[in-house]
Amino acid sequence: MNPSTLSKFAIALAVASLLALPTAQAQSKTVTTDTHSFHEVADGVYFVVGTGSIFVQSNSLLIVNEDDAILVDSHVTPDAAKALIKSVKKVTKKPVRYLVNTHYHFDHAHGNQVFPDNIEIIGHEYTRERLLGNVLEQTTAATFTGGIPGQIKGMRGKLASETDPAKKADLEREINVQEAHVKALKEVIPTPPTMTMRDKMTLFRGGREIQLIHLGRGHTGGDIVVFLPEERIVFTGDLMLPMLAYGGDGFVNEWDETLERLKSLPFDVILPGHGDPFTDKGQITNFQAYLRDLWAQVVELKEQGLTADEAIGKLDLDAHKENFPGLSYNGIFELGVRRIYKVIDAQ
Ligand SMILES: [Zn+2]
Repeated sequence: MNPSTLSKFAIALAVASLLALPTAQAQSKTVTTDTHSFHEVADGVYFVVGTGSIFVQSNSLLIVNEDDAILVDSHVTPDAAKALIKSVKKVTKKPVRYLVNTHYHFDHAHGNQVFPDNIEIIGHEYTRERLLGNVLEQTTAATFTGGIPGQIKGMRGKLASETDPAKKADLEREINVQEAHVKALKEVIPTPPTMTMRDKMTLFRGGREIQLIHLGRGHTGGDIVVFLPEERIVFTGDLMLPMLAYGGDGFVNEWDETLERLKSLPFDVILPGHGDPFTDKGQITNFQAYLRDLWAQVVELKEQGLTADEAIGKLDLDAHKENFPGLSYNGIFELGVRRIYKVIDAQ
């Protein structure tokens, strides 16, 4: 969920080092606008990240085909999506024909409303169902959004005592970005996909094959990955990230098997919904081990009669810190544990 704070340079390096392309194709290019960087990871395929001048909160994917283009995920607000659409025009003159939502979460789908009617929005039927519901009031969006004023206040406190001019300028910039984001959030009207799928849909655009695959429940009940078989690239949304993914709407007991199916796809590169691209399938195995451990420990504590909040204090997942240094038992983690209790109760 956290915005990637890595520099454009780090991402360019990561992308370049991932691509063991023949020399003729090796010059992958990056197009940068005021708001976005488009890192070309294969011919016409761009991994899209925000530059930080507007809060976008998730990565996107742009696929430029013979006659048209496809975007994957619409960011967190109408303003962020407008900036994305404007930036795409600097990369290609071809019209965006489809927008794909990897899942229904606010940070990937709350820019949907600014896409005009002639652009079909494709998502899992679960994504449509959730976006037609009260997503703004539900725990996930409400918690993340509700925390922003406190974060701004914290930054203001830091700013007051900061003496380094460069750090001061950074803080002022980030406060401005977040204040604009708070305003932009008021404009959100959750907008569902206009075309839905259940297990798989394949788009053939020009010479390109684009597979949209629901591998099973995991991060949510309706995640889809975008798989390009020829380019051996998969965009995973939040189903698989380089860091621990948010579990507050997850199906932790099924996520492991879903990831096993992800591993069986013939890809070389994972482009995640947050963070940097990566190639190591071992990180999927590491995440599976974490999910199994988390599930087993929560089940055991629940069986012992502990409430979710009591269980949170007893969980010990430190063994996974080596693979996931960001692991912490914070509020987001707590939402994940409470969710597991609900999933067990629903079984
Ligand atoms: Zn996300």
